[in-house]
Amino acid sequence: MKYENVYPSQHPLVAHKLTKLRDKNTKPKKFRELIREISSLLIYEATSDLRIEPIAVETPLEITDGFNLQQKIGLIPILRAGLGMVEGIWSLMPSAEVWHIGLYRDENTLSPVEYYNKLPVDPTVSVCMILDPMLATGGSAVATIDIVKRWGVTNIKFIGLIAAPEGIQHMHAHHPDVPIYLAAIDEKLNDNGYILPGLGDAGDRQFGTA
Ligand code: URA
Repeated sequence: MKYENVYPSQHPLVAHKLTKLRDKNTKPKKFRELIREISSLLIYEATSDLRIEPIAVETPLEITDGFNLQQKIGLIPILRAGLGMVEGIWSLMPSAEVWHIGLYRDENTLSPVEYYNKLPVDPTVSVCMILDPMLATGGSAVATIDIVKRWGVTNIKFIGLIAAPEGIQHMHAHHPDVPIYLAAIDEKLNDNGYILPGLGDAGDRQFGTA
C-alpha cells in the first residue's frame, strides 16, 4: 500500500538496523544506540528540502561560494520514547532547538492527555520535527501537531521509526499536510494499541523499564 506524503526509507542501513531494533534480545544500551543511528539516517532524508542561502567562505587559499541553512529548526520529541531520537538528530544539526511537550496515553481511552507544555508565546523556529519512534494510533502525534500549529509553526514534519496503517490514516485525517518519514510501515495495531509486528514498548526498551 502506498500512502500520500509518507516516506518509508529505502536505505539498506535503515533496514538492517531496524531488524536489530525489533529483535527481542536487543538490550537497552544497544537499543538506544540503534534508535540514535536510525534517527540520524531518517533526518538526513527528511531534511533534503531545507532552504539554504548563499554565503561567501574563505578557504586557506581563496574566497568561494558556500551555503548556510536559512531556517531555524525545532525538535519536539514526544515524551518519553521520542527522547532517544534527539541525540542522533543533534549529531547532524547541533543548533536545533529542543522543545518538550508532555502527553501521556490514557490506558483506557488510548487518547492523549497533555501534562507539560512550556512553549514560549511566539514561535522561535520555522520548521518543527515531531519525533516519536512509534506512530501507533496517531493520537499523540496529532495532538502534538495541533499544539505546534497553534504555536504558529506550519512547516512541520513527523519522524518516526515504525508506523501502523491506523496511525497514518489518523494523521492524514487531521494533518494531511505533514509529511511522515519512517523506517517501516507495519501491519496493524493489536487490541492494546501496540504495533504488530513492531518492536514492543519503545520507551520501556530504551529506558530499561520493561
Ligand atoms: N508505543 C510503543 O512503544 N510501541 C507500540 O507498539 C505502540 C505504541
